[in-house]
Amino acid sequence: MEKLEFVEVSPRDGLQNEPNIVSTADKLALINHIIAARFRRLEAGSFVNPKKVPQMADGDAVFAGLPQRDDVTFIALALNLRGVERALAAGAKEINYVFCASDGFSVRNNGGTVEETFAVWPEVAAAAKAGGARLSAIVSTAFGCPFDGEVPVRRVVEVAERCVAQDIFELGLGDTIGVAAPSDVHERFRAVKAAIPAHVQLRAHFHNTRNTALANAVAAVEEGVRILDGSLGGIGGCPFAPGAAGNVPTEDLIYMFNRMGFDTGIDLDAAVEGAHFIGGVLGRTTPGMVSRAPKWPS
Ligand code: ZN
Repeated sequence: MEKLEFVEVSPRDGLQNEPNIVSTADKLALINHIIAARFRRLEAGSFVNPKKVPQMADGDAVFAGLPQRDDVTFIALALNLRGVERALAAGAKEINYVFCASDGFSVRNNGGTVEETFAVWPEVAAAAKAGGARLSAIVSTAFGCPFDGEVPVRRVVEVAERCVAQDIFELGLGDTIGVAAPSDVHERFRAVKAAIPAHVQLRAHFHNTRNTALANAVAAVEEGVRILDGSLGGIGGCPFAPGAAGNVPTEDLIYMFNRMGFDTGIDLDAAVEGAHFIGGVLGRTTPGMVSRAPKWPS
């Protein structure tokens, strides 16, 4: 069976937009649910401006409280050199660095134009290497921007090429606001794959704002992508992307790809338990479907 890897992003992308602060203890409990469901890579938190994203202000405490597991990779997200330095100081061994494909989003999310944010990229890569962390990059708004509108494919390819100018092991394309359709996914992953070195693995990050995320995930896998992000329960959003809804629900991805014959490595029942747990913490029904459906096969 062909393997797929799932990166669980609920502790970071899933929670970052929640207005009520989730306690560090609940974040760590969520992370334990994620590990129990046999995820082996997860976004544990981000190191960004706590005034802009108060929900992520306890990144240091979350990293300090992580279980000691050599077999689990805890990813820290950063948007600038200061964030990378804080992530390294917190003990992060993998850093996911964010670039944007559009200036409108880049200015609001990363505090500068795309051009400006790349100025520090060599320093970021050097800092990660010196700190003993492996480095990946994600191109957000790769399918559309809430401020600039449509993002040309060639623009995404250009940004991807600049990302791989430094030593990264993985490159993600993010549909930050959930506007992509499968045809976009085919086109963009194919174009980026052709433009970057073969050793850089591709990762896909979808939001389900317009209910296209599962279809988009299938399209990405058809293009050879083997690493997919998801968020238990389908929670998630972005403080700087108006109208963006949740990430694709991980347990819905797992159910679908299990049924399609892929080896996901995930315990679906435990993933559903994790979705119920975070729904309980947030005090609402989460948008994912599989966690609310009868177990199948029963
Ligand atoms: Zn996202």
